[in-house]
Amino acid sequence: MAKLYYRYGAMWSSKTANTLMVRYNYLEKWQNPVLLKPKAETRDGKMILRSRIGLEAECGIVEDFIRDFRWENSNIDAIIIDEANFLTREQVDFFAHIVDTYKIPVLCYGLKWDFKSELFEWSKRLFELADVIEEIPTVCWCGKRAHFNARIQDGKIVRDGEQFQLGGNESYVSLCRRHYLSGDISSSL
Ligand SMILES: [Zn+2]
Repeated sequence: MAKLYYRYGAMWSSKTANTLMVRYNYLEKWQNPVLLKPKAETRDGKMILRSRIGLEAECGIVEDFIRDFRWENSNIDAIIIDEANFLTREQVDFFAHIVDTYKIPVLCYGLKWDFKSELFEWSKRLFELADVIEEIPTVCWCGKRAHFNARIQDGKIVRDGEQFQLGGNESYVSLCRRHYLSGDISSSL
């Protein structure tokens, strides 16, 4: 039975690498997976998914896919979406409809919450609708499971500000709850 999956993780939990490995699993079985990311994540103009460990693949854009989707013209075995915490509520609803109507599995990968540990509006909809919710684990510097994304500025945790900030991923670190709340971002402090 086709299902809607939400596989979420903190930053640095290799979500994109997981996305690309799942795609490869489908290709290996001579199936046709569609790889997508939301338009909000294409500010660099590149339609490519690139993981930190060096895997990469071309991808389509969620908005284009939804606009052009015609079941009778499609030959799709799975839809795999990276950066799914940027999907709109309507887009999540659309992909749930695809699962239920056309029996195509949809696998979404993204963040659970922002640097204030508040759920993204969009990942909230995925938690509401997904058949399967799984965490992609990553660890804090202390070795415990890291659930939180801390925004770092001048070596310290920032707790206020806009949800999105230019400057890239370098200013974030994944922490366990204890160290997120205490603000200890590494063992050297
Ligand atoms: Zn910790």
